[in-house]
Amino acid sequence: MTAMISEETRARDAVIRVGKSLFDRRLTFGSTGNISVRLDDGRTVMTPTNASLGDLDPARLSVLDGDGAHVSGDAPTKEALLHRCMYCERAGAGAVVHLHSTHAVAVSVLADVDPDDVLPPLTAYYVMRVGSLPLVPYYPPGDPALALAVQAKAAKHHAVLLANHGPVVWGRSLLDAQYASEELEETARLHLLLGERTVRPLTPDQAAALRK
Ligand SMILES: [Zn+2]
Repeated sequence: MTAMISEETRARDAVIRVGKSLFDRRLTFGSTGNISVRLDDGRTVMTPTNASLGDLDPARLSVLDGDGAHVSGDAPTKEALLHRCMYCERAGAGAVVHLHSTHAVAVSVLADVDPDDVLPPLTAYYVMRVGSLPLVPYYPPGDPALALAVQAKAAKHHAVLLANHGPVVWGRSLLDAQYASEELEETARLHLLLGERTVRPLTPDQAAALRK
């Protein structure tokens, strides 16, 4: 019992710490973005609806049971189902981070992208931390169809980009999900910075070697 309490306390503290760090570095803003951590017993600690990631209260974080029912804390983010669909498909997922980070959102509104893989493999760290990035068609936030569209991609991908919205990234730990979210945002920034210039992305062989 003691171990279970300390795991939950650690998860709450980590959500607060990571949320503030992401917010302070403008990786999300206002009350956008949400974070969840899955505990060993299947419950999920999640950021509440209408909360700023920069000013979270550990005692008010939402807790959902293994079936997705709200059991304590404030009402969860409107995008709770989206997190749940990621966990359903990924047994190894320990955390999910969803942001409205500016450069990734900018890429999510570009008309001429490959919907199977939106960003080129510009760097080794992008390939190792994110891999590939499919575009999920636009649905309004909180629409159950959006969560199902994410679920359809989640089995094969580490991260997805919601069209005209932002990225959703899962990791084995919250730190993994945080780092991958940051790598995704920086790669989106590089992609936009390079613009129309001719680039030399990693070759398919180089990318494949990193994915192993
Ligand atoms: Zn969102």
